[in-house]
Amino acid sequence: MSETVLLGDEAVALGAVHAGLTAAYAYPGTPSTEITEYLIRYRRKHGTPIAQWCANEKTAYEEALGVSFAGRRALVSMKHVGLNVAADPFMNSALITINGGLVLAVADDPGMHSSQNEQDSRLFADFARVICLEPSSHQQAYDMTREAFDLSERFQIPIMIRLVTRLAHSRGNVTTAEPRPENPVAKSATPASWILLPANARRQWRALLERQPEMRRYTASCPHNTVTGADSPAPFGVITTGLARNYYIENIEDLGVAPPHLHVGAYPFPADMIRKFVGGLRRVLVLEEGYPYLERALRGVLPPNVDIEGRESGHVPPDGELNPDIVRASLGLKSRPGLTIEGLTLPPRPPQLCAGCPHGDSFHAVTAALAGFPDAVVTSDIGCYTLGALPPYNAIQSCVCMGASVGMAKGAAEAGLHPVVAVIGDSTFLHSGVTPLLDAITEDTPMTLLILDNKTVGMTGGQPTIRPSSQLEDLVRGLGVPADHLHVLDAHPRHDAHNTAVLRREVEHRGLSVIIAVRECLETIKRGKQEQVAARA
Ligand code: SF4
Repeated sequence: MSETVLLGDEAVALGAVHAGLTAAYAYPGTPSTEITEYLIRYRRKHGTPIAQWCANEKTAYEEALGVSFAGRRALVSMKHVGLNVAADPFMNSALITINGGLVLAVADDPGMHSSQNEQDSRLFADFARVICLEPSSHQQAYDMTREAFDLSERFQIPIMIRLVTRLAHSRGNVTTAEPRPENPVAKSATPASWILLPANARRQWRALLERQPEMRRYTASCPHNTVTGADSPAPFGVITTGLARNYYIENIEDLGVAPPHLHVGAYPFPADMIRKFVGGLRRVLVLEEGYPYLERALRGVLPPNVDIEGRESGHVPPDGELNPDIVRASLGLKSRPGLTIEGLTLPPRPPQLCAGCPHGDSFHAVTAALAGFPDAVVTSDIGCYTLGALPPYNAIQSCVCMGASVGMAKGAAEAGLHPVVAVIGDSTFLHSGVTPLLDAITEDTPMTLLILDNKTVGMTGGQPTIRPSSQLEDLVRGLGVPADHLHVLDAHPRHDAHNTAVLRREVEHRGLSVIIAVRECLETIKRGKQEQVAARA
């Protein structure tokens, strides 16, 4: 046993290692990236566990499933929107008789610090009918992850650990426990349960439903769902989930009388426990990070004469992150005086590409090539280059989800718009851009795909792309893009005139073309040099 200071993400990673983890798979995505980065560093130092970046969240989940099939323990991690990509294997894996423990760590991003939405992964766990554990501290992130592997093997289901940004990216003390060895290889003893043909799937689905009462008994008695101050004379009760507990606790002493408090850290939520907790109360305030998931559910659990207050009722803001001040206002407390520093005016700092970023040069070329086409459409995607939507570029018109630039460009072109350019990064292209490109190749859609190849996953800190930049051209050619409409450009400003001319020629072409603009991310160049210096020292 020892004490250490870890990010919430790192606490999940170390908890998994100490639970006997064999392999971890992931696609980088803020705020979950540091789970796998920690495991990659850990492997370099200790030789285990397997820790790999994957092409996307779906492939990551499927690889973890294979580890479970082999009887060993696997962790798969992703950001919340990544679970949309992995939803197919995730939902179906709930029906399989899980063999080695399978834990899915999902980091939600309420407030959308670095995301397209603030969807709440607890609903996905409910949708799949599996257990979700929601830590409220770094220690719990470690402990719950360890426990999740045991639960996965006990209930033979995947278990979700739901984090949120503030926990994933803050540091806290963690006391570690004795590491457990890895499971031996032991192929699933129920291989038919892994074949989801309708006859098997119906049997497995019933078996999952039959396990629900046992799961509810677990959450009703586990230490993650707790009641304090049940005898309090306060006229209302407070129910917290996950990190919201901390914001509530920061305000308790100003309430005078602390209300009865029920905290939920494990789902399916303990309905009987909540009914008993509410007892004769006529008002409960539900504080939860994310959607009004519990608040809504309680409307079907508690008597109609109990006022349930939360995000949906308007007593807590319906969107964004919680914080101690927001919770304070929801509790009816006066706001605390702020700290004003006289004479300090901070200039606004809107997000922008690094000075000299190769994407900036590519956007200048795109804008110049599309001059004179007032109806030109530029769809784009998720990465540093999404900042091309902002001044001074104002170069892109969409960013919806990973890979959408390519499919949207195809649809827009087929609807009659011209010219249409899809701008996507190399890693996003490999994640989800290849399949819609196959559609465009099949139809020879009149559009131009511009792949911005900066040789890294830039936005999440410079992880390697799943295949090296040098293979992109061969890959695209191999998919069937005609050689005379496939170009590789050097995205350096000294080639601006040439690059603009090539782009102009291809946007005027009434068929499919692909242009790969290559220049390495400045940050990875800098990091590479620092590593060389460190290696020499
Ligand atoms: S991190 Fe790299 S790709 Fe992202 S803005 Fe900076 S230079 Fe450009």
